[in-house]
Amino acid sequence: MKSLWDDNEAKQYEGDLGLRVYTSRLLGRDTSLVLHGGGNTSVKITEENIVGEAQDLLCVKGSGWDLETIDTPGFPAVKLDHLIKLAQLESLSDPQMVNELRSHMTDASAPTPSVEAILHATLPFKFVDHTHADAVVTITNTPGGLDKIKQIYGDTVVIIPYIMPGFDLARLCAIEFEKQRNENTIGMVLMNHGIFSFADTAQASYERMIMLVAKAEDYIKAESAWELSYDSTAKEDADPVALAELRRATAKAAGFPVVLRSQRDERAMSFCNRSDVNKISQHGPATPDHVIRTKRLPLVGRDVDVDAYVAGYKAYFEQHAPKAREPKTMLDPAPRVILDSELGLVTVGKSVKEASIVADIYDHTMDIISRAELMGGWQALSSQDIFDMEYWDLEQAKLRKGGKPPMFQGEVALITGAASGIGKACVESMLARGAAVIALDIDPAIETLFNRPDVLGITCDIADETQLKSAVKRGVLAFGGLDMLVLNAGIFPGGCRIDSLSSEEWRKVMNINLDANLILMREAYPFLKLAPKGGRVVAMGSKNYLAPGPGAVAYSASKAALTQMTRVAALEWGDENIRINTLHPDCVFDTGIWTDEVLAARAKHYGLTVDEYKHKNVLKTEVTSVDVAELTAELCGPLFAKTTAAQLPIDGGNDRVI
Ligand code: ZN
Repeated sequence: MKSLWDDNEAKQYEGDLGLRVYTSRLLGRDTSLVLHGGGNTSVKITEENIVGEAQDLLCVKGSGWDLETIDTPGFPAVKLDHLIKLAQLESLSDPQMVNELRSHMTDASAPTPSVEAILHATLPFKFVDHTHADAVVTITNTPGGLDKIKQIYGDTVVIIPYIMPGFDLARLCAIEFEKQRNENTIGMVLMNHGIFSFADTAQASYERMIMLVAKAEDYIKAESAWELSYDSTAKEDADPVALAELRRATAKAAGFPVVLRSQRDERAMSFCNRSDVNKISQHGPATPDHVIRTKRLPLVGRDVDVDAYVAGYKAYFEQHAPKAREPKTMLDPAPRVILDSELGLVTVGKSVKEASIVADIYDHTMDIISRAELMGGWQALSSQDIFDMEYWDLEQAKLRKGGKPPMFQGEVALITGAASGIGKACVESMLARGAAVIALDIDPAIETLFNRPDVLGITCDIADETQLKSAVKRGVLAFGGLDMLVLNAGIFPGGCRIDSLSSEEWRKVMNINLDANLILMREAYPFLKLAPKGGRVVAMGSKNYLAPGPGAVAYSASKAALTQMTRVAALEWGDENIRINTLHPDCVFDTGIWTDEVLAARAKHYGLTVDEYKHKNVLKTEVTSVDVAELTAELCGPLFAKTTAAQLPIDGGNDRVI
């Protein structure tokens, strides 16, 4: 734990609020201090209001901001004297507290201030920093944690026993601070929760945090509990079918599709294969606010155990809910962390982002638990305390507000030919509906084209069976399964009549337009049949199937065979709730093959202008890649839930087809 303060860097930030931004980001850079929205910071300033009166304000982290990336709008300003008066009340409910915070801000459009705002206000220092430092929660969650904290910090910190965050904590801290403070006080330890530091400059407050946490780390080192030997490595590739089966069971428990992320590095494999994993993982999270992401306990084992996990979760809810002040709505009972000896650390989320956040948190939790085990044993807060946090009024309110989820939330689509044209548009249509995408293309640019965690770009020559098999496997291991398959990639070679068509040319077209799709369907089948909402396949056929032209026999025959293949698949896979439909696009001119020259030549061939040529269909409309992609996505959605083996033209109306 070292200070990252840099004088040159600090110069780029202006004023107290600027330096508050800077040192908040420094805290955020270190994941052993704060993770994903954890921790909060504040600064007290004086500012003139619109009628020229000076007012004292607390600028405190607003909800929805991460310390690592926070900026000045992330610090809503609240009237300080009012906050201090609030701290003297006997009680204040959470909704009342949020109302007081929001109604005493200076900017009505600012985010809601942190629930720890009142606590920050009562501490008589200009700068206040709060983290959930790994080292501190490691020590406070062991037997005799309180004595260890006293031994480490002496009289330099105020110590607060565990109490749920919010008004009661703020009130207790205000009282205890006055009682315990002395001239050496530079911080405050919240048992089983985290640590505060404070000072009159941004640098001093930040560096006190670093110094205090470094002391905790040194203590763990002196106890020979710092270095962990993680020596189990994953033996072979994870089994993608096992992961997809686990996903199906988890999604069933959740009541909605989920993404699963399997992590099999040395830390995860060693932790999951500890002989005592069943015991040490079943106490609770490192700090209470993790429960929102990770749930109280991980599932140890596989899909067969998901039912038992659900039963345990329901029992936990039924045990604690009746004691709550107001009625509670049970959250879904599915696990978010699964520890398996072969699949490693498996994390669950409604999106890839959610599953990754859970993985980041549990990555730290494994170290925290392992170190605590070397220091007398990992202890966590009681299930009642964790329940109170998980079912906090404010969290339940967020739940009630939550709008309609995106159509394909928690689902995974594989798309071929995804680097350009219709395929690229399909990736975007699927992403817009919340799906994660496995994007295949022969062009290596696919690997970085989308550059976001919910797209796995894989360079793949679909004419090569080995590459196809490996791409399906990689994709499933990345996201936990496969729900939708878009058979888009294809080639349209230049015109060539039958009497001069070479066998090589014929085989090449058949290989890419037909054989590759058979292989993909076959390889995807074990996963499609495990899709929580049923598997879906959309194949790109062609107008040529119904209205062929001279000079394109290989292309037309391949698309006709592909169409016939999807019809047979619809018959064979229907009882496994897999739907297969075919689109017949035509005149999609915004793709790579339709260069200006080609367009001009074709238009001339028909004696038309380019514009007339583009609109030469019954509706006199232009069909774009996006039109085809949107229809592809909708074919996978609920509107077409009862449609299979359909063939849908998307061509503006073709008089030969009609
Ligand atoms: Zn906290």
